Amino acid sequence: MNAKAKTLKAQGYDIINLSAGEPDFDTPSHIKAAAIKAIEEGFTRYTVVSGIPELREAVCHRLKEDYGLSYSPDEVVVSCGAKQALFNLSQALFDPGDEVLILAPYWVSYPPIVELSGAKPVIVPSELEQNFEPDLEALKKRITDKTKAIFLNSPSNPTGQIYSRSFLEGVAEVVRTHGLIVITDDIYDKLRFDGQPPENILTVASDLRDQVIMVNGVSKTYAMTGWRIGWAVGPKEIIAACARIQGQSTSNASSVAQKAALEALTGPQECVTQMREAFARRAKLLSQKIQEIPGLSLPEPRGTFYAFVDFSAYFGRQRPGGEIINGSLDMCDYLLSEALVATVPGVAFGDDRCLRISFANADEEIIKGVERIKEALEKL
Ligand code: PLP
Repeated sequence: MNAKAKTLKAQGYDIINLSAGEPDFDTPSHIKAAAIKAIEEGFTRYTVVSGIPELREAVCHRLKEDYGLSYSPDEVVVSCGAKQALFNLSQALFDPGDEVLILAPYWVSYPPIVELSGAKPVIVPSELEQNFEPDLEALKKRITDKTKAIFLNSPSNPTGQIYSRSFLEGVAEVVRTHGLIVITDDIYDKLRFDGQPPENILTVASDLRDQVIMVNGVSKTYAMTGWRIGWAVGPKEIIAACARIQGQSTSNASSVAQKAALEALTGPQECVTQMREAFARRAKLLSQKIQEIPGLSLPEPRGTFYAFVDFSAYFGRQRPGGEIINGSLDMCDYLLSEALVATVPGVAFGDDRCLRISFANADEEIIKGVERIKEALEKL
């Protein structure tokens, strides 16, 4: 939808793009300056596959500061984005026949990343009324003797929700009982709006250290999606296996981008606070506007820059002079053609009732976008 919206925009249509999966801010200037300095100093050659030691040390330092967790640089591998870190892990850990639990709504890439290893994604559903936190019994019901691992992502793309401590404790108990591996994707950990420090399964169950791999990166926190720096942190053997896989595919992540990421982690952090405050304000604005539209519902986002909104009250209705809207894909298509607003269909995230609406956008665009959605829905 993002690509389609950009094409239409290039053709001169007045598109409001609420489909983007990245911050609308520019990379902060001190981070750019560090990259320029790296280029000028000739830091332009291969680095060690797992990433420059200073960056891996900075990752460990941040884990200590933010989560109170102690790790050493040989327990860190830097990759070309969190996505490659997840891909490496999947290749290193899973075999054909393995089953991997993924909690819906999930980030679109989890199932294909698991499938590319030959393993089978097993989806655990959740309900909007429970803030998209799955029922622990539903989770347990899907465990078999083939279940190898579980993915967690909180704050979540696409829901903007944060798993409760009691849920994480419940998952930890299941993980302990069944000896599962946990891949916790903490990429939005700095974008939570409640002022609380980041929390993941290890902060509630430190005894699981040998079974948990944490994935993170600079893409979302520092508006650095194009730089392609992410990492995985966990048990040495697993991290070493990821580095071996990466060594035969992309080798190291860009040397220059690694220097930029080092500056991001060790330099001034006001940029993160400013972006988070803007997202928190827009989350409220978007939620208020959406709630004014009859039939739409959402849990107010508590982090990220996404809202996941239930449009199913409008399914089964007919487009003016056209077809029946039968799900999230039809609804996105309708909103793009009728309202010139781009959103993302929930079916891509494993929930066909909803649409993902990104608030990585100026306030005026959000207001105008939701106004247009309202008018388009009134025509149904
Ligand atoms: N994990 C989640 C939940 C995401 O939403 C994204 C990007 O959209 C990623 C990982 C990938 O991040 P990166 O740009 O570091 O590869």
